Amino acid sequence: MKDGILAAVKAGRILVSDGAWGTFLQQKGLKPGECPELWCVERRAEVLDVARSYVEAGADMIESNSFGGSRFKLEHYGLAGRAVEINEAAARISREAAGAGKWVIASIGPTGKLLVAGEVTEEGLYAAFKEQALALAQGGADALCIETMSAADEAGIAIRAARENTRCEVICTFTFQRGAKGYRTMMGVSPAQAAQAAVQAGAQIIGANCGNGMEQMIEIVKEMRAAVSATPILVHANAGLPKNVNGADVFPESPDEMAARVKAVVEGGANIVGGCCGTTPAHIRAIRKAVDALTQV
Ligand SMILES: [Zn+2]
Repeated sequence: MKDGILAAVKAGRILVSDGAWGTFLQQKGLKPGECPELWCVERRAEVLDVARSYVEAGADMIESNSFGGSRFKLEHYGLAGRAVEINEAAARISREAAGAGKWVIASIGPTGKLLVAGEVTEEGLYAAFKEQALALAQGGADALCIETMSAADEAGIAIRAARENTRCEVICTFTFQRGAKGYRTMMGVSPAQAAQAAVQAGAQIIGANCGNGMEQMIEIVKEMRAAVSATPILVHANAGLPKNVNGADVFPESPDEMAARVKAVVEGGANIVGGCCGTTPAHIRAIRKAVDALTQV
């Protein structure tokens, strides 16, 4: 049986994560307004193909098609009652692709409900994250990847729900945009504040995903590393900053352009490097090569 991700990082390994799921499923025909997570049940073979393609590209760990799998998100499609079924299926698909040798870091995205706006209670959030975390663990997840977070309070509740109800390792990543004051989440949280809040809530791995390309991630990682010295950092970078072409977001960076920045992001403090929107198995293959080149010196 393989060790956990934490043990591997502690042993000095730099690990490679996977690439985009959402944009990949769109290429496979997912329509706007369609529930991506329902594909875990209704188009299982397509989801399995995404998972397998990242394993074949050399990722050490893969996510799952469960980003919008909380009952609050599934509610938009009338599927809240199927949250357990859908999340368990999502984890099982990734488990099948990962086999025994790779890790499944099952995705948990934001609920879309804001505590500060009174749209949801802490208890309501906790119950939803607990339900999702338990189902993902039941489906075979090794770790839970709470991601694209912007509110520290929601992230903290998700982390506690995952830690208190499963034996999975818990990752939490936030999404930042650069503004006048530097990098902040949509809710105004800095990389240092996000890192500290996540660690305090019990996250064993922290980091940043989406919103930025690998170049911007270098600075974000440095800020997190300065705030939190020992906790492993994971980066899921977009394939550059999107350009709007005929009303659609296009991510411009090639696999080689992204891979060229892997060294700097690792030197900045990242322990696990993968992709988010716009990245493909070719990007992960290039990142794998760059990481292998780093560890061979
Ligand atoms: Zn993304």
